[in-house]
Amino acid sequence: EPAHHRDLASTRHFVGGKVPLGLKRKALRVLVTGGAGFVGSHLVDRLLERGDSVIVVDNLFTGRKDNVVHHFANPNFEMIRHDVVEPILLEVDQIYHLACPASPVHYKYNPVKTIKTNVVGTLNMLGLAKRINARFLLTSTSEVYGDPLQHPQVETYWGNVNPIGVRSCYDEGKRTAETLTMDYHRGANLQVRIARIFNTYGPRMCIDDGRVVSNFVAQALRKEPLTVYGDGKQTRSFQYVSDLVEGLMKLMEGDHVGPFNLGNPGEFTMLDLAKVVQDTIDPNARIEFRQNTQDDPHKRKPDISRAKELLGWEPKIPLREGLPLMVTDFRKRIFGDQDSAAT
Ligand code: NAD
Ligand code: UDP
Ligand code: UDP
Repeated sequence: EPAHHRDLASTRHFVGGKVPLGLKRKALRVLVTGGAGFVGSHLVDRLLERGDSVIVVDNLFTGRKDNVVHHFANPNFEMIRHDVVEPILLEVDQIYHLACPASPVHYKYNPVKTIKTNVVGTLNMLGLAKRINARFLLTSTSEVYGDPLQHPQVETYWGNVNPIGVRSCYDEGKRTAETLTMDYHRGANLQVRIARIFNTYGPRMCIDDGRVVSNFVAQALRKEPLTVYGDGKQTRSFQYVSDLVEGLMKLMEGDHVGPFNLGNPGEFTMLDLAKVVQDTIDPNARIEFRQNTQDDPHKRKPDISRAKELLGWEPKIPLREGLPLMVTDFRKRIFGDQDSAAT
């Protein structure tokens, strides 16, 4: 029997995190697709920190080597440049499937590719998980609720999604990815987990990815006006990335399939957000109104009762605490280390 099969059998008992007292948890081999991206790279940091071996599979469409370069000398880390739309053979115990552009600007850039990534890419990773009997976690999104008619959103809400709009490649792509995940769970008895992630921000976000938090922070730092789309009264709920990573790991290690909303229930209008950015970076930053994009959801706020109760998880970092941590990183990347030391 190959060594990794023996490892697999002996770790299985500990996957739920219920390690007998005094016994060290066995290290796992974990695949993180999209691990060179914003969320993925923070997850990789934590997995390596706890002693696991990590393989990142990423085509570097929106991810960057820079996000994981600090692990290149670590023998427990490996990165493969690969597109999940193509099949791949690997041997791991767990798969965190994140590969997919997340910013509307990026996922609308090539919508057909976005659908392929969500459908064919997820199918391939599920096929892989089935072959090696690995536990599979899908990072779905609050976008499956579309422009919600229920507020806040609970996991039992089926959503209000336009199937033929400019956001559909992402929304419907993720909805199909959820369907595939549940069909592999029911049909192949695969162990699966589904997270529905709400707007997340933090260090390592692409500076010009078009998302609202990264836009406002970069604009304020560059002394450009903050671009508010529409009347700025639409709402979002912003979660700091370390809270999300903790939720993802608790979900993977726990006993529940989900789906689970993972987000911070603190709800802000875009004008509120602009105010927080002004207070944090530059009280004189101007606001400029722009035409809104098509199908923009009017409001979004997670009901996280299910994650609180079944995962024992809730976010800890409010926007006014998390934003300065992101600003430090953006300052360094926009102005270089030297200037940021001076300011
Ligand atoms: P990101 O764009 O920073 O990361 C996505 C990563 O996937 C990138 O490294 C990219 O290069 C890689 N990738 C894209 N297509 C690929 C392909 N076909 N093959 C291999 N790699 C590919 O985005 P993120 O914010 O880190 O999001 C990670 C996951 O979380 C995504 O699945 C996203 O849908 C989900 N999510 C994120 C948020 C958020 O606010 N950040 C909200 C909801 C859901
Ligand atoms: N797959 C993969 N790696 C594997 C096993 C499967 O990439 O180790 C891909 C495979 O190419 C297929 C998909 O996953 O396209 C679904 O595989 P599954 O075995 O579930 O279905 P089938 O191959 O019968 O269509
Ligand atoms: N938005 C904005 N200014 C920007 C970018 C976005 O006002 O420069 C708005 C956008 O219209 C939406 C909200 O901010 O209502 C969140 O957009 P984002 O692209 O960050 O994420 P979404 O939740 O729409 O996926």
